[in-house]
Amino acid sequence: MEKKNAWLSYTAAELKKLEKLNSEYIDFISTAKTERLAVAESIRLAEAAGYRNLEDIVKNNETVKPGDKIYAAHMKKTLALFQIGTEPMENGMNILGAHIDSPRIDVKQVPFYEDTEFAYLDTHYYGGIKKYQWVALPLAVYGVIVKKDGTVVNVALGDKPGDPALGITDLLPHLAQDQMKKGAANVIEGEDLNLLIGSKPLKGEEKDGVKAAMLKFFKEEYGVEEEDFISAELEIVPAGAAREYGLDRSMVMGYGQDDRVCGFTSLKAVLDVKKVARTAVCLLTDKEEIGSVGATGAHSYFFENAVAEIMNAMGVNDNLKVRRALQHSRMLSSDVSAAYDPIYPGVMERKNSAYFGHGVCFNKFTGARGKSGSNDANAEYIADLRRIMDDNKVAYQTAELGRVDQGGGGTIAYISAQYGMEVIDSGVPVLSMHAPWEICSKSDIYEAKKAYEVFLKFA
Ligand code: MN
Ligand code: MN
Repeated sequence: MEKKNAWLSYTAAELKKLEKLNSEYIDFISTAKTERLAVAESIRLAEAAGYRNLEDIVKNNETVKPGDKIYAAHMKKTLALFQIGTEPMENGMNILGAHIDSPRIDVKQVPFYEDTEFAYLDTHYYGGIKKYQWVALPLAVYGVIVKKDGTVVNVALGDKPGDPALGITDLLPHLAQDQMKKGAANVIEGEDLNLLIGSKPLKGEEKDGVKAAMLKFFKEEYGVEEEDFISAELEIVPAGAAREYGLDRSMVMGYGQDDRVCGFTSLKAVLDVKKVARTAVCLLTDKEEIGSVGATGAHSYFFENAVAEIMNAMGVNDNLKVRRALQHSRMLSSDVSAAYDPIYPGVMERKNSAYFGHGVCFNKFTGARGKSGSNDANAEYIADLRRIMDDNKVAYQTAELGRVDQGGGGTIAYISAQYGMEVIDSGVPVLSMHAPWEICSKSDIYEAKKAYEVFLKFA
């Protein structure tokens, strides 16, 4: 079962393609730091590749035919792209799924306060973070503030060249005797993740002059009042761009690679693939990190509805055929795998771990405590995937999420599997998962994109 490192297999021409893809990827994750930004950037790339908005097609009563390229977005936070195949939709689609939300710190609805002549934004973290990793580093704020008249104001603070830094302070070690005795979960308390944004009081303000100065800043910069933050979605993420990592530049360090690394490679695959038999789909979902809930999470009927709309535009107004299209589909539910980290060997089992440079990773199951909560992919389906990967010289590996009973986690795989379609977890191995800066191997990113394109052509 020894598998060779994929780096050893590349020709000069392949290495050039690998570097080009990774440089585009670095740009993508540096720009798309939130689910909204990821959807906007994906739509920009899709429109440049000839994709059209499903809303316009429905509004104009247009007919959809094989070869058409269509995208459907919902609430600007989830996106599905369809390249219509020559086979009837009811024969099933080939679906690439990934999530584009990432762990972060969200700004509360009533966030402003002043304490001891410092102004802060109060927050509530999103997803599974080690809170102690998010202090004493530069952070940026992205998102929207929506005014009562419906105006959407885009906010971007702390990331542009020349922008000031923002952040959350930590306690000096000299006075941390008590703090250092706490368990790591409580070294930094969730309620203490408060973003320090200012310290200069506004002249003429008797009370809370620093907060008043900050509100004046938002009024002048964005035309918003304190009350407008009630209808805002502001996300605090690490400031700075993704970069190559390692002296050999073999890796990428960046924020939000869980799971925009699979989002980007899936998107690229569907944009690059040509003349498909089965309809090729890329589904980018939101809210995976908090259970795939809500109107933009994988549990939402958004995707099913989009499929029904497209089939209707193809002259198939038949609920049974929509159900068949979903049940006969195949999916690669792509999410990052925990890469084997030799510094922490105790949590892994070597034979069933994901390794950097060994290609795209397939997980038959995820879950915790006896596979609980897992989609357990069908053996027959895995055999098909082994064949098409080998036939197309894609480097792949298989893994579990750590040792038995060490912990666990879930993905969106089991949700699509409810339709009865074939689904397997797959994706790119990552080091320092859920940390502000995560690390992936360039070669795994390249192999994942190859795997996704091969899968979309799978007849
Ligand atoms: Mn994930
Ligand atoms: Mn995650």
